Amino acid sequence: MLTIDDVSVAYDGVPAVVDASLTLDDGQVLAVLGPSGSGKSTLLRAIAGLEPVASGRIGWDGADLAGVPTHKRGFALMFQDGQLFGHLTVARNVGYALRLRRTPNAAARVRELLALVGLEGYDDRLPATLSGGERQRVALARSLAVQPRLLLLDEPLSALDAGLRERLAHDLRDILREAGTTALMVTHDQEEAFTVADRIAVMRAGRVVQQGDIAAVWRAPADPETALFLGYAR
Ligand code: ATP
Ligand code: MG
Repeated sequence: MLTIDDVSVAYDGVPAVVDASLTLDDGQVLAVLGPSGSGKSTLLRAIAGLEPVASGRIGWDGADLAGVPTHKRGFALMFQDGQLFGHLTVARNVGYALRLRRTPNAAARVRELLALVGLEGYDDRLPATLSGGERQRVALARSLAVQPRLLLLDEPLSALDAGLRERLAHDLRDILREAGTTALMVTHDQEEAFTVADRIAVMRAGRVVQQGDIAAVWRAPADPETALFLGYAR
């Protein structure tokens, strides 16, 4: 379980996240939703250990993560541009971490992961020959390969066109459910948050202004600005 208590993050003294508190239970998918500049990516980077926390506490199963370096947190990250290794085939991209760890039966695991993301038979393709959506599916499979205890997604579908984004959002939801992944996804897209997540946290100007089940937040936004934001791009 991820616990964020009163976390603040600043860049050169300028606050980007202010007293943010969140919890995320195992197996749940939480969307952090908010307008551009509201501090979503900064919060995600702090959870990953990529930005220092000015005050407050980020914990996993009760243990404080302060001082735990990114690669020892057991989290996986996926960004808008999946950043595949261009010179490696799809199968090698997905199996990269498995090979580093000398995981037995890596080839079978890669096949399983490719099936999970709907890319059976893509093993030998190079990233340059894939569509944007296919590349994000490969990036997702690669993130899931190491069975992270938490998957952090920063606008994973934002680079895709609207139609594809909607389809992939449904697929992403199903894939995360099937894999039982605990995930925190940052997005500025209401539709995407509602499709993919069980719960949402709404951020504005560095603060988490509301969090809860999607239906509850939708029915009763915390304040007029949140209502406007939720309804605005519908
Ligand atoms: P978007 O939806 O556009 O990605 P966001 O909600 O992810 O926005 P952040 O990237 O977390 O927002 O930025 C929050 C604030 O912190 C913004 O005011 C931004 O200008 C500032 N900021 C972000 N990264 C840095 C940085 N590396 N150095 C200085 N300021 C930064
Ligand atoms: Mg961002």
